[in-house]
Amino acid sequence: MRTIQRALQKFNLHVPVQFDASLSEYTTFRVGGPAEALVQPRTTGELTQLLAALAHTTIPLTILGGGANVVVSDNGIPGVVVHTAGLTGVDVTGDGIIAGAGTAISDVAACAADENRPGLDWIYAMPGSTGGAVWMNARCYGGEIAAVLTEVHYVTRAGAPGRYITDPADFGYKVSPFQDGERIITEVHFSAPRQPGSSAALWERMREIEEDRRGKGHFAAPCAGSIFKNDRQFGEPSGKIIDRVGLRGLRHGGAQVSSGHGNIIINTGTASARDIRDLVTEVQDQVYRETGHLLDPEVLFLGDWT
Ligand SMILES: Cc1cc2nc3c(=O)[nH]c(=O)nc-3n(C[C@H](O)[C@H](O)[C@H](O)COP(=O)(O)OP(=O)(O)OC[C@H]3O[C@@H](n4cnc5c(N)ncnc54)[C@H](O)[C@@H]3O)c2cc1C
Repeated sequence: MRTIQRALQKFNLHVPVQFDASLSEYTTFRVGGPAEALVQPRTTGELTQLLAALAHTTIPLTILGGGANVVVSDNGIPGVVVHTAGLTGVDVTGDGIIAGAGTAISDVAACAADENRPGLDWIYAMPGSTGGAVWMNARCYGGEIAAVLTEVHYVTRAGAPGRYITDPADFGYKVSPFQDGERIITEVHFSAPRQPGSSAALWERMREIEEDRRGKGHFAAPCAGSIFKNDRQFGEPSGKIIDRVGLRGLRHGGAQVSSGHGNIIINTGTASARDIRDLVTEVQDQVYRETGHLLDPEVLFLGDWT
């Protein structure tokens, strides 16, 4: 019997576990090997029990939200992968919206818009979960998660529940206080006061945003959005730098720098995770040689890359 199975049985846990579950279907790049054990808790209670049990072991733990900002190794991820897709739900309160961490962030924006609550419209059509958007402090179309976040409920790795009240000073460009990996986000509270009148204008803006993303090829092939962070010190966005160096269309195996946007790498259909990682390195090397700028990947490489 596997160590993980033994550990879960010892603590009498009844959380559904899939062993050797392929993770490619759980990431927007559509690549990646198996999770040694994939667990999708259906409630915060189940997650808490699982974490408390794992805290007594040396089994590695990885959290996966919508898989929209990660490349999972072809070798997969050892230990337990908690996929948050079961922690869903959206509630409307007086001046805000509360969402389960596994809820698609775009669905939260849609719920807010239906109630004519501005504040989250800018994030509509962005892939990923609500927990992942907080973890990354996602930003686009003039908005940033930290600006609308009021509080976050979490469970620590040791299985203790807690509550974080937003302090904007804790956040920065692609930075959130959750990146030390000690807290698993379970519930997210946003400020989104209702305004009188119809939600037509909000929906119009959201459809424009969706169309804009479509026009930029965001949904044309599997990808993880921007592959590199932007760095103000470089004086121009990473995509422009990559264009200038002439790397649009560059391929490595089944991975390719998008012909439509220099800062997007796509899976043309046959890419392995290694192809994507090698292409990231190749772009970094070429840009560094030509410009002296070292691009920093925004995408996270998860799992065993040995
Ligand atoms: C087509 C496309 C367009 C994109 N456009 C944008 C954009 O405009 N702006 C932008 O900011 N991003 C963009 N992205 C990237 C991505 O959508 C965001 O980074 C998103 O917030 C990732 O959320 P996720 O749930 O997929 O996180 P994942 O990729 O699953 O995980 C990212 C990190 O968050 C951690 N994490 C996830 N959930 C939790 C949780 N509940 N508790 C603790 N840790 C957690 C994971 O462990 C991991 O370290 C785009 C991606 C795609 C595919």
